[in-house]
Amino acid sequence: MPPTNSKNDDALLERAAELIRGTTNAIAVTGAGISVESGIPDFRSAHGLWARYPPDQFATMDAFLRDPDKVWEMWYELAENLQGVKPNPGHYALAELEKMGHIKAIVTQNIDALHQHAGSKTVIEYHGNTDQIACTACFRHRKMDLSHRALGAPRCECGGVMKPDVVLFGEVIPEYALRTSDMLARGCDALIVVGTSAQVYPAAGLPFLAKESGAAVIECNTEPTNFTNVITDVFLQGPAGETLPKLVERVKSVTD
Ligand code: NAD
Repeated sequence: MPPTNSKNDDALLERAAELIRGTTNAIAVTGAGISVESGIPDFRSAHGLWARYPPDQFATMDAFLRDPDKVWEMWYELAENLQGVKPNPGHYALAELEKMGHIKAIVTQNIDALHQHAGSKTVIEYHGNTDQIACTACFRHRKMDLSHRALGAPRCECGGVMKPDVVLFGEVIPEYALRTSDMLARGCDALIVVGTSAQVYPAAGLPFLAKESGAAVIECNTEPTNFTNVITDVFLQGPAGETLPKLVERVKSVTD
């Protein structure tokens, strides 16, 4: 494949639409970028969460075990930011592609449940979600409760420290998510990767796996990434909330 060019022009949109029209088993892999237009900051941009909460101090299992109260400050803030947040046109566009029979599943690194709120049915939450918290001692689950914020890290009835049911750096991806995503990536004809900086593995490996297995890779991002000049066939540069709805319209308008 020739290298992609970075203009979200008509020919690129048509090429992406053609790939999607021809498939009933595409998958989408999404990252924090798709939710930026819903008002949730991503991690790595200048105003992202990492600017205030360095990952080595807030997002690793070691940091959590060292000082759970401190790490919970970030989780309470994130969970509070997620309250009342709504899906944006990018989430709805992917839900529509699933309804039209082109996309089989979404593998998301996000923990905001916005794909489900937009109506997507098959969503694999690769890094868990903020809805539930789990005891690190007895593994009992309960719902996230923001009213406990002033008390620091919530405690289980057994005395163990509770942790949000999300995957921190240094933890393994849940077995079901790992296996299913691998299988979907190996079996798809097209993979749409949206709003991810391609830096967090193993999620960032899925587009490479799909490409190796013969799939076309369509990438939608405001900036080029480590995928762009290596495996991306069609790069649609721009905000996902604008680009993805245009793509859906183009998929619908079959040209002769
Ligand atoms: P990241 O912050 O590393 O990268 C975000 C990517 O999105 C960048 O490449 C950026 O150029 C792109 N982007 C920004 N705005 C965009 C837009 N409007 N349209 C399209 N692309 C846009 O995010 P990541 O790769 O997903 O990895 C960070 C980790 O943080 C993930 O594991 C994820 O679980 C977690 N996270 C989740 C949320 C959420 O649930 N909404 C928010 C922040 C971080």
